Amino acid sequence: MYINNFLKNFNLMTSVKKQKTLKQANRKVILNILRDSGEISVADLSKEVNLSKPTLMTIINYYLKNELVVNTGKGDSTEEGGKKPNIYKFNENGGYAVGIIISANKLAGVITNLKNKILHNISVPLKTNEGFDSVLKKIVDLYNNLINNAEIDRKRLVGIAIGAYGITDNTRGEVIFSPHFPSWGKNLNIKEKILKQIPYEIPIIVDNHSRFQVFAEKILGLGIKKDNIVAIQAGKGLVAGVIIENEIKRGNHYLIGEIGHMIVDPEAREICACGGKGCFEAMVSTNRILRMARDKYRDYQDSIIFNRNNPEAVNIYNVFDASNKGDKLALDLMDDVIKWFGIGISNIILMYDPQVMIIQGIFTKAGEYFLENLREKINKISLFSIKRKTEIKYSELGDTAGVLGAASYVLSKYFE
Ligand SMILES: [Zn+2]
Repeated sequence: MYINNFLKNFNLMTSVKKQKTLKQANRKVILNILRDSGEISVADLSKEVNLSKPTLMTIINYYLKNELVVNTGKGDSTEEGGKKPNIYKFNENGGYAVGIIISANKLAGVITNLKNKILHNISVPLKTNEGFDSVLKKIVDLYNNLINNAEIDRKRLVGIAIGAYGITDNTRGEVIFSPHFPSWGKNLNIKEKILKQIPYEIPIIVDNHSRFQVFAEKILGLGIKKDNIVAIQAGKGLVAGVIIENEIKRGNHYLIGEIGHMIVDPEAREICACGGKGCFEAMVSTNRILRMARDKYRDYQDSIIFNRNNPEAVNIYNVFDASNKGDKLALDLMDDVIKWFGIGISNIILMYDPQVMIIQGIFTKAGEYFLENLREKINKISLFSIKRKTEIKYSELGDTAGVLGAASYVLSKYFE
């Protein structure tokens, strides 16, 4: 008897739960249609989904109340003398998302509306290996400043995503280890620390920044309509974001994308930040290029990269620029770095077989010489003709890729 009652109640509970989930699922479907279409009437909506007009109207009313949908007024009637239908539109300013990236030397953040439009962005410098308590204070200040500057109601915030440099467990919101911030120690739960500082409880996602960088390409950049994308960011460190069959890949220990420590030259003397020798990251670092430039100053004093005869003042943009003008020293330096990029990227292509390999970060400023010769190098290394079909391109998203990717990731979870 007891068991029967229990089962009866249990079934009743699950059926109520199922109905609730179904209701939520229907709502999300309708919201996504509204988000993707411009303006739409209930009659047009009913052609797209298998729901009755009264059900649709209940859903629309729910969203009108939440201000995620607005009534734009009466549309044209379809039949002569027919009643003019109400036209509904998604309210892109009905909610907001915040994306923050903690990189080695700065904290950057954006606040966007529900259609990825940036309303405000802020960036503040970070000290080398700045302690987490101080970084946390800067994160909270930046978050408050974004909301205040964008003049939004913070209750309308749908979530925050934070991208960290370092190995990150997104399920716990924890930075396992960050080579740029050794003072943070191991297994620092950023999510918990931030939640304690923010007055309204909202979803917080913490992940490695590369995952948001590649997500930005998928939603807004060169990865639109592509299922397999790899985006590599060369600069301070070297890491890749990987999307395979439309899913961000992380791996068992969150190590997918840590390509910077792939050994490309086992004979190298170059020591990497990780302690290894001949790591991809160390071989293509801009510091190494500049050091090689300075070492060659005596033999190449006429090179245009030393425009003021001061080898110490040379910067990476001088080298990029001079390589595109055919300067001998700059070409030698770039050929060396292209060799290591060629090997590294070739291996990554074999590993993930992407449709597009997107280069982000400082090398997007390298210009034609680097990109053209890199493509050629990869084709030469490759024994598989299929590899030649992989597009290799510079990202067009600029410095906002990470923060914008983080905010759009929040939105994708919200609309999921
Ligand atoms: Zn390394």
